[in-house]
Amino acid sequence: MRTILTEHERRCIEHMKHTGLFAEILPEKLDIAHGIIIAPCSDGDQFDDVYGHIAKVCREVQINRIHAVALNGGGMLMGGQLPPEQQRHGDCMFENIINASRIKTIRDVFLYTHFPCAIASGNSLSVIDQALYLKRAKARLRETNPDLRVKCFFHIDKYDEQEGGSHKRRTYFMPREKWENRDILRGLRFLKNIGE
Ligand SMILES: [Zn+2]
Repeated sequence: MRTILTEHERRCIEHMKHTGLFAEILPEKLDIAHGIIIAPCSDGDQFDDVYGHIAKVCREVQINRIHAVALNGGGMLMGGQLPPEQQRHGDCMFENIINASRIKTIRDVFLYTHFPCAIASGNSLSVIDQALYLKRAKARLRETNPDLRVKCFFHIDKYDEQEGGSHKRRTYFMPREKWENRDILRGLRFLKNIGE
């Protein structure tokens, strides 16, 4: 699968970092004392890094309680207009998260999307689309259960041919206050339109 980012994709990612839509993760701010439910993509080439990162964050605050609901496509499956098969998977993920939160009494849910993701590119979703889908997935979960505390994360694998084919993997937090800022979102829409 393709891992080299196009110029426009790089630009979008840099823009989201620059505007704070993609932010560093501050473990002490996550408030995960009772454990978390994670909803990432199953992608075996990325899962180790995605899980390894959050497991490390949890260890830093002495929590060892991660409940995983992983499916091909991850959290964004629950938040968008997708073909019926993927919508079904999204509904399945949704139900599993709602049930897990009840059975395990965990109210912190971490949704993930990652780039490049075969499910996203297979549906012609851009990096910005993926982020917006994830935000909608969050809104949908909160509508069903307002007690859930849902946070969104974006994992990026920047593959660099020039540097001997090295992978640079990072997980970013998507802060709510930035994603609710109209000026920032206007800039994002503008960038999205250029790419289409
Ligand atoms: Zn994926």
